[in-house]
Amino acid sequence: MRSFQCSVCSQVLFFDNSRCLQCDSDLGYEPVSGHLDVISLRESAASNEVVFGRTEAGDGDRLQRCANRTVASCNWLVAIDVPDGLCASCRLTTVRPNDADAAALADFAFAESAKRRLLHQLNALGLEIVGKEDDPDRGVAFEFRSSSTELVTTGHDGGVITLDLSEADDAHREQVRQDLGEPYRTVLGHLRHEIGHYFWPRLVVDAGHTEEFRALFGDETVSYQAALDSHYAGDASAESPSVAAWVDTHVSEYATMHPWEDWAETFAHYLHIRAGLDSANSFGFVLGEPALSASRDALADGSGVSVGPMVQAWLGTTLVMNAMSRSLGTGNHYPFVLSPTVIQKLDFVHRLVTSAAVSVADGPVPDVATVDDVT
Ligand SMILES: [Zn+2]
Ligand SMILES: [Zn+2]
Repeated sequence: MRSFQCSVCSQVLFFDNSRCLQCDSDLGYEPVSGHLDVISLRESAASNEVVFGRTEAGDGDRLQRCANRTVASCNWLVAIDVPDGLCASCRLTTVRPNDADAAALADFAFAESAKRRLLHQLNALGLEIVGKEDDPDRGVAFEFRSSSTELVTTGHDGGVITLDLSEADDAHREQVRQDLGEPYRTVLGHLRHEIGHYFWPRLVVDAGHTEEFRALFGDETVSYQAALDSHYAGDASAESPSVAAWVDTHVSEYATMHPWEDWAETFAHYLHIRAGLDSANSFGFVLGEPALSASRDALADGSGVSVGPMVQAWLGTTLVMNAMSRSLGTGNHYPFVLSPTVIQKLDFVHRLVTSAAVSVADGPVPDVATVDDVT
């Protein structure tokens, strides 16, 4: 993600900031333009209407702070005439912990922060989503539930993304990560994975890419339940690829379970790469020299793919990231190897995301129908 700058004092601002650390100005994020800047309460306004940036906005831009600014630590702005005062991110959440459950609420705020980061990125990529309140059949909704009080399974079902809020607890998540032998596990990663399931029918099936998908990821019509049972049964019989084998074909071990999971893992990884590169770019820190990277052979094999330059810049950058994190005594920030097959899959995601975004940019003046067509 790119960085932002305070329009009062020029301090670098981060996406989660609600106050400038240099000049103490209040900050708000305006999701339509995708900008973070200073806000101030509009003088003589009876409501909590704010001015965004240093200039008075026109009548079409009358804004207030999100009603969830405390419970979800939300720094987003929303139009002044929205009755419940919930921003475009918060209104997508249909289930959250009880007000009396302080521990779960802290995890909820953490999860909402990750969700805002996800939505900002999707918007920047031109992958708009609609909520179920606007489109019950094709919209998306988030249910943030805590497994400390009920049985919760993180997943996606018909546009409903469920997250176990225990994943926001560092000790719990690290324990699960070790139990499952994963190199990497984050709340943001979960959300990127689950939204990948949401986009699968839209980017692949609706756009007419099913055959190409099957050639790369396999036949998704095989039984999902059988694949799931086998995966969690720890079935070591010949069915599941060994560690040595899956690295050549999949971005993670979990991706080997079923073509849908492979897609979701690959889609999430694509979002990781795009976000990481945006951050690196915004600070002038991109090293497109993969010669020393473990994946250099893979990149050579995949040099003809459209995602190639992006992967090259990313591998060069992660090389430095990992060297720096080791210098500071921590493990690799980026514990992945990208094989030629995985790069081909990333290229597939890249082409589908890019063409979906182009159809937004090139289309007629966006209305509900055209937004729906591409999501
Ligand atoms: Zn400032
Ligand atoms: Zn909000």
